[in-house]
Amino acid sequence: MTENVAEAAETADLPGSRSFGFRVLRGRFLVYAVSPAKGARHWLQYAACSGCVMSAVTLRIGEGHDTHRTIGGRPLVIGGVVITGVPFGLDGHSDADVLLHAVTDALLGAAGLGDIGEWFPNTDERWRGADSAVLLKAVLRELEQQSLHVVNLDCTVHAEKPRMGPWKPLIRQRLADLLQVDLQRVNVKAKSGEAVGPVGRGEAISAAAVVLLQYRPAAD
Ligand SMILES: [Zn+2]
Repeated sequence: MTENVAEAAETADLPGSRSFGFRVLRGRFLVYAVSPAKGARHWLQYAACSGCVMSAVTLRIGEGHDTHRTIGGRPLVIGGVVITGVPFGLDGHSDADVLLHAVTDALLGAAGLGDIGEWFPNTDERWRGADSAVLLKAVLRELEQQSLHVVNLDCTVHAEKPRMGPWKPLIRQRLADLLQVDLQRVNVKAKSGEAVGPVGRGEAISAAAVVLLQYRPAAD
């Protein structure tokens, strides 16, 4: 009896397989694997195996959190939207879009792909002043490769100034466009810092994001 999906892939001569799905068909348990070695999709057929069920889930959740210091002389970009009428922006190697960074980290987390610092190191000159939407799109392309699709995103911006409430609809639309999902699948919340801590004193802006992904191969 095979105990887990990785073992099943080894047994079937598909070492290093990294993407898995499963379905139950006519009482048999089928494990789906993408093997980088063979570059093809394979259905592996097994009797029911509780370990396989646990490790071949089709839904994956991820969270992301980010904070940047406020600084004068830079545009303030949050969620891919330039926030106008503000005499400061955020300090950072890229455009310092605190919300897109949190969303990108949530996507990477859900996919088990590490974090944004590993993908886009702040020591790499390629990302100096980079549009964070470009970074997010690069991660989305990887998810597409792995047949991982966004189910929904919920996120929160923590800022004392400016008040983010009026900007929520625009940011929500921009996030839906970037993720290529319906507006209803995205939610944006805004909180002040209650005048305490780095956010409350206006020294920083933070963002948090939770995303749900679904593993859904194009064809069975
Ligand atoms: Zn960041």
